[in-house]
Amino acid sequence: MPPHGRDFGFHLRKYCPSLLFNGKCSDRRYCPLSHNVKSLCEPCGVLCVNGGILKSHKTSAGHLRRTSRPDNSDVIELHCEECDVSVFGIRSWNAHLASREDHPLVHPRNPEFHDEAYCLTCKRFLESDESSDGHPSTKKHTIFKQIALYKAELEERGIVDGVLTVSHRGAVDFGVVTAAQARRGKQIIVTIVPKVAGLVMQTVTARSNSCKLTASSDALLVPLATKQATKVVVEFKSKLQDRGFVGKLVVGFKYPGWDDVKEMRRNVVVQVRD
Ligand SMILES: [Zn+2]
Ligand SMILES: [Zn+2]
Ligand SMILES: [Zn+2]
Ligand SMILES: [Zn+2]
Repeated sequence: MPPHGRDFGFHLRKYCPSLLFNGKCSDRRYCPLSHNVKSLCEPCGVLCVNGGILKSHKTSAGHLRRTSRPDNSDVIELHCEECDVSVFGIRSWNAHLASREDHPLVHPRNPEFHDEAYCLTCKRFLESDESSDGHPSTKKHTIFKQIALYKAELEERGIVDGVLTVSHRGAVDFGVVTAAQARRGKQIIVTIVPKVAGLVMQTVTARSNSCKLTASSDALLVPLATKQATKVVVEFKSKLQDRGFVGKLVVGFKYPGWDDVKEMRRNVVVQVRD
């Protein structure tokens, strides 16, 4: 374990992303993810679990070195061996690859030392003794990739929030349900109101590891009426009593401007008690 932080390997997703990337979670009551962390240092890919660790990480040589150079992703010169041209920044590189339909998926290179490949995930040139074939399976690369994926997920949620409003802002909370109600099944209606025309509800699912959770809607696969409430029925059922349950409601949407289905997620919580 590095002295300044926790080696979080594949466990990043157990932590609340709002806390990791924005420094605070406004949904502490319902958020089921771990808040047992102080900060994620993104340039270093290091998770600091408490204030002491964060403080010593911020003064470590590695951190100072990584943060002293400007975020080079917009100014770095990247060379394409295929076309023998150089472009500036990751965005321009991606645009360059997309500019030709048959452009092979090559690694950008250092314009001065062509044997140095640039890793778009780690945002640095690999040393010539680091093989670009073996690099993607290294631990550090895996960590940076996880961070990028987790961030993309957050961004997607923001995009969905921009085009619709959904009830049960914090969570789909059933409150306290009696054992008899839990056996019979209890429903909650979640309403979705699109702000734009052309939104289509593609999938509706609910799941839990500990109880029976289902979701349905009769407005699937048709364009939703703008500014009108569309209903999604969430049903909870369990034979177990005197305990709490958590689950997730996931609704997938399609919109003409999007390349793929984007998801709206809500936590579901239930307490069974007589
Ligand atoms: Zn949280
Ligand atoms: Zn750092
Ligand atoms: Zn090229
Ligand atoms: Zn990498």
